[in-house]
Parts: sequence; C-alpha cells; structure tokens
Amino acid sequence: MSLAPSSSSPYGDPALNSNLPPPLARTPDDWTQAVRPLGARTFHAKQLFRWLHGRGVLDPTRMTDLPVPLRDALATGDLAHVPSIANQWRSLDGTRKLLIALADQSTVETVLIPAVSGPKARLPSPLACDDADAAAAVDDDDDLETTDTARVRVTQCISTQVGCAMGCAFCASGVAGLKRHMTADEIVAQVLLARSALDDGEQLTNVVLMGMGEPLHNYDATVQAIRLLGHPDGLALSSRRITVSTSGLVPEIARLGHDFGGNLGLAVSLHAADDELRSLLMPINRKYPLADLLAALRAYPLPRRRRITIEYTLIDQKNAGLTDARRLAKLLRGIPVKVNLIPMNAIAASAMRPPPLDVVLAFQRVLVEAGYSCFIRRRRGDDVSAACGQLALLGAKPKVRVGRD
Ligand code: SAH
Ligand code: SF4
Repeated sequence: MSLAPSSSSPYGDPALNSNLPPPLARTPDDWTQAVRPLGARTFHAKQLFRWLHGRGVLDPTRMTDLPVPLRDALATGDLAHVPSIANQWRSLDGTRKLLIALADQSTVETVLIPAVSGPKARLPSPLACDDADAAAAVDDDDDLETTDTARVRVTQCISTQVGCAMGCAFCASGVAGLKRHMTADEIVAQVLLARSALDDGEQLTNVVLMGMGEPLHNYDATVQAIRLLGHPDGLALSSRRITVSTSGLVPEIARLGHDFGGNLGLAVSLHAADDELRSLLMPINRKYPLADLLAALRAYPLPRRRRITIEYTLIDQKNAGLTDARRLAKLLRGIPVKVNLIPMNAIAASAMRPPPLDVVLAFQRVLVEAGYSCFIRRRRGDDVSAACGQLALLGAKPKVRVGRD
C-alpha cells in the first residue's frame, strides 16, 4: 500500500508508519504507534479504529471527532489508497454483490445475503437453506447482541484471494488461476465497505469465507482478518459467527482447529465420495485424498451442538446419482456434519450443468433417510451472478444494477 507524502501536515509524514501493518489491518495499539509520531494521542487512535471497524467509515473527512490536521494527514497518507466499492448490483431477491477495487486495480467480489424474512424463516426448513444457514453450524443465538429483534440478519460472503489456484472444474473463480493472495487489510475492507450497502434495519450477523479464493491457501491473512473482525472495539463479530469454507487443505484444517479451539465455523467442499471422481473435479484431492481429509474432520475440535458443514455441489451425470448419495452417507458416518447440497450454478467456462430437481430431491432423500440433516441451498443472487461459484475475476455483467458507476 503506497503512502502519499504529506510533509505539509503538522502531523508529520505518515510514511514513517511503513513498518506497521497496512492501515485496515492495524489494531488500536498499532494505530497508537502510527499516530504518535504525528502528534496525536492514544485516544485518537482508539477513535480512529472505531470509525474504521466499528462504523465502517473509511473516509477520514467524516471522522468528525478527530482533529482536522490528523484527518488531513490520514486522507493524504495512510487512508489515501484503501479499497473502495467500484460497483454494486442488487438482485431481485435482495442479495447485493459489491465489486471491490484494490489499490493495485485488482478487483474482487463480495456478496450480502439478507435472511429471507423474520426470525422464523431462519429455522431450517426440511428442504432449503441459505448461505446464512450454512454459516452456522451456530445453532443458537446466545452470543448475538442485538437491540432490536426485528432486524433483518445479513450474511456476508467474502473473498480471500484474487482468483484461486485450486482449479476446480466447476468454479468460475478457479478458471483464471490465482492472481495473488489478498492481504488481511483487503479481506477486512470488504466487510467495512459493505456497511454502506446495508439497508435500514439490516444487521450483519454472519460472515462466510466462501467468495473467491481458497482461504486456507492464504492462511495467515485469513486468520488475521478473522481476529480483526472480532476485535471488541470494532465489529466484535465472534469467530463462532464466521465460517471458513475450504476445498480440503488438510494441514491447515488442523491448524485452524488448534488456533480457534473449534470456535470457528468450518465448511468443507466435498463434491464427491470417491477419490477418482473427486480428483477429477477438484485437483487438490490428489494431494489430500479423502481418507486424510476425513481424518482431519474427525480430529477437528468441535464444541457441543456444533457441526461441520459439508458442501456438495450437484453436477448432472457426474456426482448426483443414488450410488454417489449412498457412498457419501457411508463416508460421513460418525462425523458431526450437516450436508448442504448446492445444485451447480452454470458458468460460462464449463459445460457441466445442475441435475434436474427430481435427481436433487432423490439425492437428498438418501441422506435424510440415513439420518443426516441435509439441505438444498437456495439459489440467491443468481440474476446478478452472485451465486456460489459464479464470482469471476473481472465481475460479471448483471441485469439489474444500482449504485456508483
Ligand atoms: N475455496 C473455498 C471457498 C470458496 S468456494 C471452497 O472451495 O470451499 C465456495 C463454495 O462454492 C464451495 O463449496 C464451492 O465448491 C462452491 N462452488 C464453486 N463453484 C460452484 C458452482 N459453479 N456451482 C455451485 N457451487 C459452486
Ligand atoms: Fe477455488 Fe473453491 Fe473455486 Fe475450488 S471451488 S476453484 S477451491 S474457490
């Protein structure tokens, strides 16, 4: 992140801060170090952190309780090149997709998914679920502070890499390969920026790392971002309300379990119940075959009442048959999981297609009869190419568009 010089400021040259983490990845203590050479005080650092992380205000000119010279120094220095919303689209179902521009002109996408309606709608229906449900493995709301129970809960799906190196055959994010990892600062920026895209009465309650990229391939930045989202002076989003989705990087699953003691939602993209097929769909399976992956899931330290989410994208004529369903039921036996079936969302780069509904329902029936909680994920944001696996490197051309040009 480059810092513009501001030597005319009485607060000095913010470039002195280059040994600190990038601005949006700084804790209040880091900010204290950053603003002290500028003549500002510890409480200014706290106020600044609150503006950024508590209120989602990234524009220093709006930080009204900071001294004007400090605001000016930040505007031309540390906060001059933070990510911004380059475009946004609203689906007919209320889902919003934001295109985020990073400092090097790369773009990533993030999606806001409001719960369908009131508290009752959050209860799992026998048939369908949202990503919001996938977000949780959280089966209770004990840790959710809200002043108004009528608020609409919003789940945000965020990206962790520009592109993805994993090359899954059915996924738009993998098609162009990995351009680069995102920094913790950039990962967090998606959540801070999205505050301005929330409607009145909406509250961000869950974050899922299911956007572009493989979060565990970018482990350190991902964990740093999760910790920042949980900072008590900022968003204070408990890691229990955050779900990391992985294609199955076995050593990092173990590391995640160790680092969060199980207090972090885990979703695993399985998509096949035998190694041959899984390796075909997901090249990562050649490195970490199913036996290793399942061993990592068995070892994951899950608190009581929580389950690992298994994501299974159903692809016609590939992995959606009754034999596949029975094999999956057998494979997962004894592991505390719930299964989310995702009828494949079509992408331009692949001829693969979702199966017909009766095939999806038959697949679900096998799992339900075997005793699993098994949901079919509702398709959200499809009209703005915001559905699972449709987040492409350059942003798609949607039909309905709102916001800045
Ligand atoms: N890299 C991580 C997280 C991002 S992908 C992972 O693979 O888990 C989020 C989810 O979308 C994964 O379960 C992924 O398999 C699924 N997905 C990818 N492409 C899809 C598509 N075209 N249709 C439906 N789901 C898809
Ligand atoms: Fe990467 Fe996940 Fe897409 Fe696979 S499904 S290419 S791991 S983003």
